[in-house]
Amino acid sequence: MKGRIHSIESFGTVDGPGVRLVVFVKGCPMRCLYCHNPDTWTMEGAEEIEPEAIIRQYISAEGFYRNGGITVSGGEPLLQMEFLTELFTLAKAHGIHTCIDTCGITFRPDDAAYMEKLNALLKLTDLILLDIKHINPEEHEKLCCQPNAPILAFARYLSDIKLPVWIRHVVVPGITQNERWLYETGRFIGSLNNVKALDVLPYHDMGKVKYEKLGMDYPLKDTKPLTKAEAIAARKIILDGICAFKLEQRKQ
Ligand code: SF4
Repeated sequence: MKGRIHSIESFGTVDGPGVRLVVFVKGCPMRCLYCHNPDTWTMEGAEEIEPEAIIRQYISAEGFYRNGGITVSGGEPLLQMEFLTELFTLAKAHGIHTCIDTCGITFRPDDAAYMEKLNALLKLTDLILLDIKHINPEEHEKLCCQPNAPILAFARYLSDIKLPVWIRHVVVPGITQNERWLYETGRFIGSLNNVKALDVLPYHDMGKVKYEKLGMDYPLKDTKPLTKAEAIAARKIILDGICAFKLEQRKQ
């Protein structure tokens, strides 16, 4: 089964532990206002690549990946579960650490056939990088043009099956840089039992150039990048929410 791929980054350092081969797939049902990969949204122009070719590429530079592995990012990787399952089956046969960078929007717990495929893939997955874009349902729709219920349900499911997760949250001025939303995000994260790391990422506008090149209007052109100090302050509010939830649980 070939994957429909946007690009491959040979030595990624921000998409999971260590130095990694990062495979960016095509296709995403979300339309996040700050997305800096709008060229991954559709399948148009995808390169079809076999899992074996990706494993060969990894093995050819294996010495560089000693504490790393393979991450599939996107776009939305879980749109191509069969391809990922083949890729990760090969990866595990070679002892390679596997990671999926997903927004979780495709989660369909009531669809038995879907869940069978998902569980087969998750058994081969060492780590999930899960983006929580916005904790509030209405604000999430405005930010991503999709509901957040499947994403939060996916986070809860990963917690139930104890699959390690790194949570990522982008703080955007005027959108998620909001005390109430940050605190609620923290409380939700606090209710999960599988979170190994929390990345609070400051919004930046480096994607602007890509929109210009694609002839697309950049929706956040009037939004200023978040400063480092603001990101630290936002992280603290999320951590306060996590602590508050955990303390309440202990008291019960
Ligand atoms: S989920 Fe990721 S790839 Fe999809 S629109 Fe949002 S930021 Fe872009």
